[in-house]
Amino acid sequence: METADVIVIGSGQGGVPLAADFAKTGSKVVLFERDALGGSCVNYGCTPSKAFLAAAHAAGRAQLAAKLGIHVQVEVDFPAVMERVRGIRDRFKQGTKQRLDGAGVKVVCAEASFIDQHTVTGGGVTVEAPIVVINTGTSALIPNIPGLAGTPYLTNRNFFDLQELPPRLLVIGGGYIGLELGQGLARLGSQTHLIVRGDRLLSQEEPDVSEILAQGFEQDGISLHFNVSAEQVAYADGVFTLTLSNGETLIGEALLVVIGRNPNTNALNIAAAGIELDHQGFIKINDQFGTTCSGVYAIGDVATQPAFTHVAWEDYRRLKTILGGEQRTRSDRVLGYAVYTEPQVGRVGMTVEQAQQQGLNARAVTMPMAHIARAIEWGHDLGFYRIVVDRDTDQILGATLVGDETAELVHVFLSLMEARATWKVLEQSVHIHPTYGGALPSLARLLIGDDMPSCPNL
Ligand SMILES: Cc1cc2nc3c(=O)[nH]c(=O)nc-3n(C[C@H](O)[C@H](O)[C@H](O)COP(=O)(O)OP(=O)(O)OC[C@H]3O[C@@H](n4cnc5c(N)ncnc54)[C@H](O)[C@@H]3O)c2cc1C
Repeated sequence: METADVIVIGSGQGGVPLAADFAKTGSKVVLFERDALGGSCVNYGCTPSKAFLAAAHAAGRAQLAAKLGIHVQVEVDFPAVMERVRGIRDRFKQGTKQRLDGAGVKVVCAEASFIDQHTVTGGGVTVEAPIVVINTGTSALIPNIPGLAGTPYLTNRNFFDLQELPPRLLVIGGGYIGLELGQGLARLGSQTHLIVRGDRLLSQEEPDVSEILAQGFEQDGISLHFNVSAEQVAYADGVFTLTLSNGETLIGEALLVVIGRNPNTNALNIAAAGIELDHQGFIKINDQFGTTCSGVYAIGDVATQPAFTHVAWEDYRRLKTILGGEQRTRSDRVLGYAVYTEPQVGRVGMTVEQAQQQGLNARAVTMPMAHIARAIEWGHDLGFYRIVVDRDTDQILGATLVGDETAELVHVFLSLMEARATWKVLEQSVHIHPTYGGALPSLARLLIGDDMPSCPNL
């Protein structure tokens, strides 16, 4: 058996920099990874999906340019699209390897499990260390639909291996991964059906967000099926037949299953370390990322946190300072996220309903795209900007931005909220005309009853 200073299980978005930083300062670090280095983000998540969407949205925008008087015949070279996606993924994966090797981390390419509280084994290597960090992430949740097992259905894991554009695509799931990948293939030419168990897309968002996304998807020719579930799958001669709970039957050459995520905790033999899981199998942690086993920490998706790369990355930064002896917690941070559909959704903080449920004296104001000069000039008419504030303190509590490139714009609110600024800072700011950001002071001015659109010419 070997000894080390730190063991990291999983090369996710927090585990890799943490391992590298410790190794660079002279600690002996062993990292176990059972699959591809870089975890979901690099291999099956953010990186390939966003590289894929770059192509898909280029095609979508070209088609929508007709309303600007530009008529384009879009020709999609699907193998070239996917080659580029895989090339970027491989480059990032290689970067992860170089980072770990360069820092002197010992990488064990094997599935790891606990033998006892501080001993981990995998691939014939057994290591004991006073600090163990679990960063094992999540995998696609597969529903128990009769006929599904054994068919070549897609998840986020094999989606980016596609070699040919499926003429017809069936997507089970109305969450952000299904929307991004479903809209992406639709924009590249697949006739797409989205099957949603509930009555709207992105059910965790406010209903008007779902409504606008549905309008965008219908513009792209995507068929939306609400309040139905998939009851039966059949596969023959390269074609899936999906029977829905309303009796309808849908046909497609590809079936994408994206109904949620499962924590990667099964293989860890977590009981040997006395680590408690929640009812869904995620690792319970305290405010300093500590599990119920002293000296064992968990970061990223597996640790009951919002499942985003920037969260896992920030977990690493905070855990590093905590292990360095500083007083730090994980809960005092402003978190946002984005959905890279078109229109995009940029979100930070609370909705007005969430704030009111917390007992805050909250109010929200909303500016539609029709009041934003840049949106009209650019022909982006779907969406709105909304800010949520505390009436008592003037603090900004949250924002929801739906429209063009709102994943970028939402950072204005992230920074204001991090600085604990009030909405009056935004109201006083002089932003550039005509930009999307230029509408934000006007949005804040709605709070003082000024209903002037973002541009006096409107
Ligand atoms: C299609 C898709 C798109 C996404 N897009 C975005 C986006 O745009 N923006 C964003 O912020 N987030 C996005 N995410 C989420 C993001 O990928 C994750 O939040 C991020 O990867 C952080 O995960 P992590 O570090 O917790 O673990 P992961 O990245 O999942 O890494 C965990 C690693 O642990 C390994 N592992 C598991 N068990 C063991 C074991 N027992 N032994 C050894 N190794 C093990 C796994 O093989 C894996 O490599 C997306 C996810 C998906 C699926």
